[in-house]
Amino acid sequence: MTRINENYRKLQAGYLFPEIARRVGEFSAANPDAKIIRLGIGDVTLPLAPAIVEALRSAAEEMGRETGVHGYGPESGYDFLIEAICEHDYRARGVEIATNEVFVSDGSKQDSGNIQEIFGTESRIAVTDPSYPVYVDTNVMAGRSGNARADGAYEGILYLPATEANDFAPPPPEEPVDLVYLCSPNNPTGSVASQENLTAWVRWARQNDSVLIFDAAYDAFIQDDDLPHSIYEIEGARECAIEMRSYSKRAGFTGVRCAYTVVPRQLEGTTSDGERVCLADLWSRRQATKFNSVPYPVQRAAAAVYSPEGRKQTAEQVAYYMRNAALLREGLQAAGFGVFGGEHAPYVWMKTPGGISSWDCFGELLSRAHVVGTPGSGFGACGEGYIRISAFNSRENVEEAIARIRRVFSG
Ligand SMILES: *Cc1c(COP(=O)(O)O)cnc(C)c1O
Repeated sequence: MTRINENYRKLQAGYLFPEIARRVGEFSAANPDAKIIRLGIGDVTLPLAPAIVEALRSAAEEMGRETGVHGYGPESGYDFLIEAICEHDYRARGVEIATNEVFVSDGSKQDSGNIQEIFGTESRIAVTDPSYPVYVDTNVMAGRSGNARADGAYEGILYLPATEANDFAPPPPEEPVDLVYLCSPNNPTGSVASQENLTAWVRWARQNDSVLIFDAAYDAFIQDDDLPHSIYEIEGARECAIEMRSYSKRAGFTGVRCAYTVVPRQLEGTTSDGERVCLADLWSRRQATKFNSVPYPVQRAAAAVYSPEGRKQTAEQVAYYMRNAALLREGLQAAGFGVFGGEHAPYVWMKTPGGISSWDCFGELLSRAHVVGTPGSGFGACGEGYIRISAFNSRENVEEAIARIRRVFSG
């Protein structure tokens, strides 16, 4: 019999979102008249901006002409997109990133899941708790953990509690770790890392020869220009950090698929006999072997995000979601909930009333207000006692959800 990769058996039974879908399905089958408002999964709801649609359309037409044939593209992306990234996402904020340090891909979920392949299996990893489940699960699959404990945490992985006390942005640990996943603005807590917090991380990583994997999928949602948008705004980060960005949330690309990862040329890892190796070369080799580039029309669409119209239109979309987030923050606060986040991220992180469990709160919200949130415990043991409310929905649904929650839970 063919042996399986038994690491997969260590994974907790259901991925969070299928379990939510199952419970919502059950409820809606039993209550067919309930008008359920889904503020659960973090997926965009606005249509693609006109500048993006136009770029997709004209690239598709171009490919239909004899002079416009585009087959396999360069593995790490077309120059027109990479140059726009270096200019608008970095140079505009005073950061120099070279074109050979940018690797365009079909998603940050993939990149944040695949990046662990270039590191040794014995690498010790740390995550902030709660965190985006991909970081932990892909390392479990690769054999970098022991079994799961009762609270869902895995042996062998270091969890850094993100709590009210540290503004949901934990400081570096006392002990050395090889790889640390950071995400700011944060999914699920909606918090944002300060300059001081990221400076402490970069200093720590350089002292310990560790690598930071910085997921900036939500950088466009930062409302304060003084907050770092990129880890490379912190001095020394080029020697210790990999950064990931995605067009999914900032430009509604969840169904279009385009993202990129930056691996600076200075960033190194080491072999068992101490030789230092450039990580960008390894990532380039990995992508060249396992990935065959993002479709041409999609890269044209991503480049259109940086055009004057594209910037204006996508900024309006972000503003729309951020207005939802502000309404959720205020509305839930007024209903007596403890709420965090939602100021620089499209998520509000809400304390469950009376300290009930995340899943009990999920059940209460669903059965009494017909509103779907995401149980915080699904993102890690420290998410227990919280629920994530997403601002990705229509204004009308957000206002209706707030009104219902206030009706049901206030006073
Ligand atoms: C949505 C999200 C991503 C983006 O994933 P894509 O594959 O680019 O759609 C990455 N990281 C986090 C934390 C996210 O929430």
